[in-house]
Amino acid sequence: WFSDVEVAAAIEVFALTQSYNEDQHPQKVNLGVGAYRTDEGKPWVLPVVRTVESQMASDQTLNHEYLPVAGSPDFRTASTRLLLGEQSPAILGSRCDSVQAVGGTGALRIGMDFLRSRLGFETIYVSSPTWGKSTSVITVITFMSAGNHKNIAKALGYNIKEYRYWDAAARKFDVDGMIEDLRNAPEKSVVILHMCAHNPTGIDPSHDEWKMLAQVIREKGIFPFFDCAYQGFSSGILEKDPWAIRYFISEGFEVFGAQSFSKNFGLYNERVGNLVFVTKDPESVLKVRSQMMMVVRTTWSNSPAHGCRVVATVLNNPALFAEWKENVKTMADRILLMRQQLHDKLRALGVPGNWDHIVRQTGMFSYTGLNPRQVAHLVKEYHIYLLKSGRINMCALTMKNIDYVANAIQDAVTN
Ligand code: PLP
Repeated sequence: WFSDVEVAAAIEVFALTQSYNEDQHPQKVNLGVGAYRTDEGKPWVLPVVRTVESQMASDQTLNHEYLPVAGSPDFRTASTRLLLGEQSPAILGSRCDSVQAVGGTGALRIGMDFLRSRLGFETIYVSSPTWGKSTSVITVITFMSAGNHKNIAKALGYNIKEYRYWDAAARKFDVDGMIEDLRNAPEKSVVILHMCAHNPTGIDPSHDEWKMLAQVIREKGIFPFFDCAYQGFSSGILEKDPWAIRYFISEGFEVFGAQSFSKNFGLYNERVGNLVFVTKDPESVLKVRSQMMMVVRTTWSNSPAHGCRVVATVLNNPALFAEWKENVKTMADRILLMRQQLHDKLRALGVPGNWDHIVRQTGMFSYTGLNPRQVAHLVKEYHIYLLKSGRINMCALTMKNIDYVANAIQDAVTN
């Protein structure tokens, strides 16, 4: 049965880390990794998470029973409140609910599955580029990944289309291109919108641009599905980052929001996600939840409990919540500092080109604008690993390696 199975394409970001791990060069840098790093280049367990986990370790009332199919009610309610805001018209009007998911990926998966299988949506629009899309720079391994939004949509039989997003020449958001592409959307289309801190470009629409997008999405009857993987990482302020989804709700849209707590809680391997849905009336909430539970039941049946307990404990306790906000700000501030440092160093070195986009972008990632040849140069000559698209993780930069990286970029750009 198995001898004719084709080897699947490697997943770039993980293959890159493997190459980095195998590299013995003393100054090697992994700018490709998709997770937060401290200034010592280490993963960070948030102090508030440590506190809660140590309390949980001695809590004799906790057990390993299955969670309900829809997930932990404490977690779902608190997460929905975090995303939509306490005073959300959807919460006050009982027009929303959520289903716990296995990370943000799981939330995207069950949301897309529901729209396809229960409502017959056929076409899905993803940004160009989007999360996970790239090709390898490591010459020994050639691979191509279509991007995870696309991969999920493909598995569900969607017709996949891209909307223009990144204007490579101007290194900014291509609002006109996106609007034009959405204007051509066929009936029964879904659009995946990155709520904030767009991965991989780090560029988000302005409030006015979101308003223009909402207009075309309404005119065309497209379903807006927000990917909310980075709440807190864009501005450092949890209340500010969900502006776009809250705006759509205030304008009367029915929406989905796929939440991930991988980044803002640093709970990457605990797989904590939540799919929030907002409907036009309370009756629809019950219908959607019941169908969504069927989707969950046939996909992973029950969600894991540990990570969601941590998140629910923090979100439901004012003192812990205040501490978490500070932890999120610590991460966001460090990223901002690295943006500023890299920008200033490239300018001080007189590296040709305009590097202002690095400080205009937000979130964990920067689309540097480095081309594949320059990226290959960095890998080969300097042992600096990054995605072929030129995307770098800002917090993989540290006060120790930033000069090395800036000098290497100068060499790559000028040679
Ligand atoms: N959406 C975007 C834009 C992401 O960048 C990621 C993770 O990198 C996810 C979703 C998935 O998050 P999770 O790891 O929680 O599945």
